[in-house]
Amino acid sequence: MDLLFSDFVKIVEQFPYLKRIHLQGIGEPLLCRDLLQMVHYCTGRGIAVGTTTNAMLIDESVARQLVASGIDSVTVSFDSSSPSTFERIRRGSCFDTIRRSVQTLVEHRREPGKPRLSFLFTGTTENIHDLPDVVTTAHEWGIGHVFAQEALIFGEDALDQRMTGLKLSENPESTRTVLREAARRATEYGIPFEWFGLRNGGAIGTDIPPYLHGDVRLCRNAFRSCYITVDGYVVPCSCYPDPEKFNFGNILKENFSEIWNGEKYVAFRRAKLSGQAIPLCSECTVPKL
Ligand code: SF4
Repeated sequence: MDLLFSDFVKIVEQFPYLKRIHLQGIGEPLLCRDLLQMVHYCTGRGIAVGTTTNAMLIDESVARQLVASGIDSVTVSFDSSSPSTFERIRRGSCFDTIRRSVQTLVEHRREPGKPRLSFLFTGTTENIHDLPDVVTTAHEWGIGHVFAQEALIFGEDALDQRMTGLKLSENPESTRTVLREAARRATEYGIPFEWFGLRNGGAIGTDIPPYLHGDVRLCRNAFRSCYITVDGYVVPCSCYPDPEKFNFGNILKENFSEIWNGEKYVAFRRAKLSGQAIPLCSECTVPKL
């Protein structure tokens, strides 16, 4: 299902002071027919736009259009520097295509750092040992940032069972060793490296500071932003991907200020402030209050 451009405009118009928007759902943003039009619309209103992509669809023409759209940041999901591991984890992908996509984006940048290009590494015990090499690849390919996170499953018991033996939090010592090496290489290359932390608040005890979502105490997603699904449902963040299980309302049917100030959203923020346990948030890597 695509978000229609007309619905997108209806949504954005409800946020007159919007500073930043990240165009990403659970699927691939470049499959959305109107994505570039949406980027143009936002940049024309002075809104910084980012997206996260698997980079499989970025050919010369798409790269030129993305850069020309004024997009602020493009994050490429990149889980291994080894083509065989990469293609095994990301079924249907092609490592060489992604390498060409990234190189094309780098060549067509408006100027160095515009758009900001990043890798997002999602780790399990299957690929975490590749993280230092991912940092090296970022350096070699001209990528300016590396973000890394543990693969998390939210609210899907069947999927969570498939993660048995793959969770980094079950293997903290070797994860910590790999993270240190990745951070060391990032420092050597001058590449910012951000580790989102492990589930349960980063209790692994790594000395790599977790990404703090802009505030040491508060979850930015609960207090300063929201996630809107392709069909208009408002949820706190992408960790709540199924609006049938949980949502605060639908922005295509109600005004956002009614949703944000509604009983359910206010109760959610109060629960966060009081430190009350919220089941879905318990798996999140954002530091808890
Ligand atoms: S799941 Fe995490 S990011 Fe989302 S609202 Fe809860 S604490 Fe914040």
